[in-house]
Amino acid sequence: MTESSDWLLVYDSFDPEQEGRREALCVLGNGVFVTRGAAEESQADGVHYPGTYVAGGYDRAVTEVGGRPIVNEDLVNFPNWLPLTFRPEGGDWLTLDPAQILSYRQVLDLREGVLIRELRVRDDAGRETRVRSRRIVHMEQPNLAAIEYSITPENWAGRVHVRSLLDGSVVNAGVARYRDLAAKHLEIVDMGDEGSGVWLLVRTTQSRLEVGLSASTRVWRGTVEIDAERRLVKQPEIIGTELSFDVARGETVAVEKTVALYTWDPGTSEAGLEAREAIGRTGRFEELLRSHTLAWKALWRRCDIRLEPAATEQLILRLHIFHLLQTASLHSIGRDVSVPARGWHGEAYRGHIFWDELFVFPFFNLRFSMVTRSMLLYRYRRLNRARWAARAEGYRGAMFPWQSGSNGQEETQEVHYNPNDGTWGSDLSRRQRHVNAAVAYNIWQYYAVTRDRDFLSHYGAEMLFEIARFFDSLTTLNEVSGRYEIHGVMGPDEYSETHPEYPEPGLRNNAYTNVMAVWVLERALEVMELLPPRRIKEIAEQIGLTSEEPARWRDILHRMTVPFHGDGIISQFDGYDRLLEFDWDHYRTRYGNITRLDRILKAEGDSPDRYKLAKQADVLMLFYLLPQKDVRRILERLGYPYPEDALQRAVECYLPRTSHGSTLSHVVHASVLDLVQHDSAWEMFTDALRGDVEDIQGGTTQEGIHLGAIGGTVDIVFRHFVGLDATGDVIAFRPKLPEALTSLRAQIRHRGRWFGITVTRDRFLLYVESGGTEPVPVEILGELHTLEPGERFEVALPPAEPAAAPVA
Ligand code: BGC
Repeated sequence: MTESSDWLLVYDSFDPEQEGRREALCVLGNGVFVTRGAAEESQADGVHYPGTYVAGGYDRAVTEVGGRPIVNEDLVNFPNWLPLTFRPEGGDWLTLDPAQILSYRQVLDLREGVLIRELRVRDDAGRETRVRSRRIVHMEQPNLAAIEYSITPENWAGRVHVRSLLDGSVVNAGVARYRDLAAKHLEIVDMGDEGSGVWLLVRTTQSRLEVGLSASTRVWRGTVEIDAERRLVKQPEIIGTELSFDVARGETVAVEKTVALYTWDPGTSEAGLEAREAIGRTGRFEELLRSHTLAWKALWRRCDIRLEPAATEQLILRLHIFHLLQTASLHSIGRDVSVPARGWHGEAYRGHIFWDELFVFPFFNLRFSMVTRSMLLYRYRRLNRARWAARAEGYRGAMFPWQSGSNGQEETQEVHYNPNDGTWGSDLSRRQRHVNAAVAYNIWQYYAVTRDRDFLSHYGAEMLFEIARFFDSLTTLNEVSGRYEIHGVMGPDEYSETHPEYPEPGLRNNAYTNVMAVWVLERALEVMELLPPRRIKEIAEQIGLTSEEPARWRDILHRMTVPFHGDGIISQFDGYDRLLEFDWDHYRTRYGNITRLDRILKAEGDSPDRYKLAKQADVLMLFYLLPQKDVRRILERLGYPYPEDALQRAVECYLPRTSHGSTLSHVVHASVLDLVQHDSAWEMFTDALRGDVEDIQGGTTQEGIHLGAIGGTVDIVFRHFVGLDATGDVIAFRPKLPEALTSLRAQIRHRGRWFGITVTRDRFLLYVESGGTEPVPVEILGELHTLEPGERFEVALPPAEPAAAPVA
């Protein structure tokens, strides 16, 4: 990556090795559909992987694995609308053969949402041509995309042929690990041509989702349209147009391809018809670009974060905001989707929704909270499924799945492929029941930030009660200790699946799960006080909640088990301290990158279960989600001591034993390191930032960005650098810039009002958006102030406290 501006992601050469990652980082999208930043001249071939995904566009397929039918639900790769290439008369189609490329530059313009490619090529006959393409996926009109493809013959003149296609022959082949699994999800329903364009209607094989696409391709010499000779290209799964026309030496002609893509979304009649009608309705590329960039301008005016002087971090943070806004946008509102762990940017994790939502929603809560609300309804619509899932396993309430897709059933694979040794092993990750705590947390955060009582009353309370009920039914009372316990679960650390001393799958008393279960029960009880008794009674009647249940919840608040080491540190789970120490130095020397220790150890015939090692924060995750005072309150009520240095000691215990095998880990550790005022917090934050741009997991970014880590980095800026707490009665700020920064400027929206924030090393400036007459109470550094709408308020900040000693 080279940066020439902190708005531009620039690549100065074509590098086949890096192409997959660049395609994922250069995705363009609008919350409705996204398209990877693959070259227009390319097709899926091991270097390139053009992919177009529709939010919520899933389909199931069955594969035989080891003699068993395995069903997987995939995020479907829909038809490729990009193909656009040319050839001089008598020459070959341009396919990006590196031998023909004289120069190559690719720029993702984050401010305008445009992907630009500039290349010079020389063909076998010595003809040199300059190509410049600009591409958009329209942010204001969510069914449109367009490419402007300019061709300039530098040392030749003559006839040019252009080929523009809609390719419905695509399959899901974006993740090497899944290649043995069924990959064909589309069938062609219909296709045809009309005027300057062609159209294609496809349907997914199992879920029967229809997507209609059309492409209109026209050629322009300045403002004059070239009357090109047209030929229809029609193959069983591909339709397109070939255009032929003459060009003079040095002259630039612009081929413009305008694409419409319609789905099953609200406001659509029949996807094929909608797409067909769009042909010829849209104007020229420049016109589309104008309204598209205006939409982006409005988004950036609200969502940009300006950091000084950190140019690299600035660019990456903007890239992160860019991808958040492309995954979920105002167009997502009312659609039945949430945010997938890997964005809609690739096929890893099959576009499924995990607990990662909790890292992403804070961004939307503080800007477009309607987006979060809409995504919480994705969960609400699947509440019945979650109830059935709980019942099927002998629990009460609602058990949301670890991986959720179309209808909210458990989509986690039953077997998992280890590329290190080519074997399939069982996958216990569905035992991460803590995903339910995440759903509850998201509901509560949304409510706390927005105070949307209607949401709480109609949807939130019911989900919270059912989740509380589930956790209640997950606990068993240990008659000996007199405490409640939870067995058979996995925490966020997926390297610890079972304990070698216990026969059952899953762990006993994972501290994260148990404490979060208590937190959920607390919130459920709080909501019972918050909403009018009449409404609570209605919900209770509807879901059959008895009065004994809240009584038992209260009992659990006082008697849940939380395991501790002998030295008073919270244990990750029962028996953690009896596990072996892991030889980190040996494995680092032997393998270099040891982030995926699970695969390494399993390929050696060993198991990570035997060691004190973690993939990502588990105990520490508690301190990422909950203020320390809440952790203390929960533990002390349970009768456990909470020493002043509890967090510091937990960090010292777990950080050196964590391999950061999940990109979420750097985010969580950056946060907790900052809490213990550790000077490596910034470094950890920059590791979190580098996750995707540098692909620090070595090959996963090409399969889709890591949206949780992306959302988490933005959240850290607000929670830590701005010191924002937006959940209380009054919005509160306790700013503290990291040493590396001299200033930070941003905006947030809180309870219907935008706030402008500037933090420097010694000042904090708050601007309250004008409008209305109500004074606005705010808390800054613990002091209450009342600001008038339109007021700019400034306070001096105290000098930074010295950093703590490094964690060993
Ligand atoms: C992490 C999970 C995460 C999932 C999807 C896994 O590698 O361990 O915590 O939810 O990826 O991002």
